[in-house]
Amino acid sequence: MYCILLRYGELTLKGKNRKDFERKLLENINKQLADFDIVIKRDRSRVYVEQVTDNNKDKIIEKLKKIPGIYSFSLAEIINNDIETIKDFVLQTFDDSKPLFRINSKRLNKKYPLISEEINKAVGGHVLINKNGLEGLKVQMKDVQQEIMLEIHQEKCYVFTDKIKAMGGLPIGSVGKGVVMLSGGIDSPVAAILAMKRGIKIQLAHFSSPPYTNAQSLEKVINLTSVLQEYDQDIKLNDFQITDLQVAINKNCNERMQVVLLRRMMLRVVENVMAKHKVIITGENIGQVASQTLEAMEVTNQAIESLILRPLLTYDKEEIITLAQRFGTYLISIKPFDDCCVLFMPKSPTTKPKLDKILIEESKIDYMTMIEQIERDQYDCQTIKDQKDFNNYL
Ligand code: ATP
Ligand code: MG
Repeated sequence: MYCILLRYGELTLKGKNRKDFERKLLENINKQLADFDIVIKRDRSRVYVEQVTDNNKDKIIEKLKKIPGIYSFSLAEIINNDIETIKDFVLQTFDDSKPLFRINSKRLNKKYPLISEEINKAVGGHVLINKNGLEGLKVQMKDVQQEIMLEIHQEKCYVFTDKIKAMGGLPIGSVGKGVVMLSGGIDSPVAAILAMKRGIKIQLAHFSSPPYTNAQSLEKVINLTSVLQEYDQDIKLNDFQITDLQVAINKNCNERMQVVLLRRMMLRVVENVMAKHKVIITGENIGQVASQTLEAMEVTNQAIESLILRPLLTYDKEEIITLAQRFGTYLISIKPFDDCCVLFMPKSPTTKPKLDKILIEESKIDYMTMIEQIERDQYDCQTIKDQKDFNNYL
């Protein structure tokens, strides 16, 4: 049996909000680990995942790495806290291939007969005597190969050697709600995970244009959703079929403004249907493509009132790709697909759209009626459970 000790650094900075943040974090951990037969406990400074076994520890560790708000954690073995037991255990589990070591003990039980320094000396000395002759054996304070950490509790001692880095950030749901505009590209899934990392509880909106966008495009977005659900299983994906509106824009409006026009329409749909009192999050990035100039983003913003967050605004593509690889979305994102934005893509979209001109173009189509229709037809992709549902949907 092991116990995993969880640390949640940034939360300790949050003063009076701390209790709410802790409650949220605990709720999220419980939800994400619901499938495991474990016990989750909390005391004043820590969360503990208890009754972890050799069978489930690796899976639990992978889950914990994807829970925002946890900074690091350690897989600890639990032994009795009398000093002889500790000495024997440390000697038995000592890794001879890492002879430069230190013992780092901490007493949570202040009535323990030895103070931390005495524990370090007793245990370290026991190793030095019994491993006498091992090449390179030495105690050192810094830059050691092996740090054996001991936490003395009321009756038990927790022993661990590693601090595993987790996501950091804030617990999902602790700062508010948002809707992520999810395309099948590289950027928006990364934006989604960064938004979750800062504590935003997200839902997803995708726009497709059947029959111009095909089944693979939607399948890709559903696969990306599954990766995002590893961070928060409550995430839902809504698909909006925007074909008629897109065709109308294409037929009636100035070609060079079509990308911005379409983006404004998407935002209106999202705001009306999903984003009441929520922020909207996109994968946009300054200067990456014509629709992402500062001027274009400004005109895009003016279509709606909701706050639009763009977590990737200042990132280089390389940096975004590194994050996509780390988060596990990259290999899905690079599969070929047609995004509805790319359909009917003008040869040279305007990089400096002006609101008055955009409004003139919008007045040429009855977009409100079409938006209402899109909203009526919106589709909750969670109901797609198998290939048959999927085929029916398309
Ligand atoms: P991505 O890699 O996220 O597709 P991109 O660099 O390809 O981004 P665009 O295609 O211009 O950029 O899209 C900018 C943003 O608009 C996307 O990051 C996403 O948030 C949103 N978006 C684009 N297409 C769609 C779509 N079909 N459905 C939902 N949102 C979309
Ligand atoms: Mg795209």
